[in-house]
Amino acid sequence: MKGDFCPNCEEYTGVTLGVEKEVYNVRGEPIEIEAEVAICQKCGEKIFDEERDSRNLEKAYSLYREVRNLLSPDEIRTIREKYGLSQRALSRLLGLGEVTIHRYENGAIQDNVHNNFLRFIEDPQNMQKLFEANRNKLPSYTAARLKKRMANLLQEDKEQAFQVSFERLVSHQKVDLTSGFKEYDLEKLKNMILYLVKRLDGVLETKLNKLLWYCDSLNFKETSVSITGAQYIRLPYGPVPDNYERIIGIMQPELLDKNEIPFNTKEGIVLGKQFTALVEPDESIFSGKEIEVMNFIADTFRNDTSTSIMNKSHQETAYKKCEDGDIISYEYAKELSLSLNK
Ligand SMILES: [Zn+2]
Repeated sequence: MKGDFCPNCEEYTGVTLGVEKEVYNVRGEPIEIEAEVAICQKCGEKIFDEERDSRNLEKAYSLYREVRNLLSPDEIRTIREKYGLSQRALSRLLGLGEVTIHRYENGAIQDNVHNNFLRFIEDPQNMQKLFEANRNKLPSYTAARLKKRMANLLQEDKEQAFQVSFERLVSHQKVDLTSGFKEYDLEKLKNMILYLVKRLDGVLETKLNKLLWYCDSLNFKETSVSITGAQYIRLPYGPVPDNYERIIGIMQPELLDKNEIPFNTKEGIVLGKQFTALVEPDESIFSGKEIEVMNFIADTFRNDTSTSIMNKSHQETAYKKCEDGDIISYEYAKELSLSLNK
């Protein structure tokens, strides 16, 4: 049997496929589309076909969504899956009927208010607000899983935002003596911080900055390249990695913990910021030599206070040859007071 069944001719006939402008009524609004049609070659009537009609309706719906700036079913699914929620769980969280999201993902046109709601929760920060207000609507294990997922998403957003602004900042950074002939490697810098903090079981902020500089400088002295590619700035309290605050900023609170602890100085009791590592450093990204350098620096200064390590760094040629605010060139590393195997 060829062709389609024509109810008019009451037999299977040849059909001509084509397109025709048709107006569909979507939510009370006339939507005109180029509809697929099949014409009976015998009587010239249009032949109805359920599949074809549903494709046409789909087309009208998607045009309506476009005109009304509504999310597509795929976009709704993407938002839901971003949070790892079932259709039912998302419906509940949004305070909608149990099957509402299921219907939307299957092509039903969403209510405007629901659409705005879904757009709102695309941003994990907004999702978090919604979640905090409605967490009792979810089973506890679903709530716990969602909470963890949001924390990851927020961290990713933060790192991404940081990465963008960071790349802008370092894009002009050269692979030369200011960076120790090494491309800037944020992962290594983060892990070097974790490594030192962990090996010393907590490090005060001022001391940490000096340790980082000593590690990169000593590695340069030994191998002619730095470990992290970081540039260090000469500040009155000693060398500090450029963008230091931002780096610490993205490591908190998930990777690094900061506590204020009181300690005695000549000026009386001062509060120092002490870092502790909350995760294990990834040692696999370092060479054996780099690990050796970091161990040596950590152990050499193990018992130094922030003040004594600062005073030692002030005695280094690299520090003496620069002015406050200068980038400290790695060329002075060859005159560093420390060497491996000595
Ligand atoms: Zn016919």
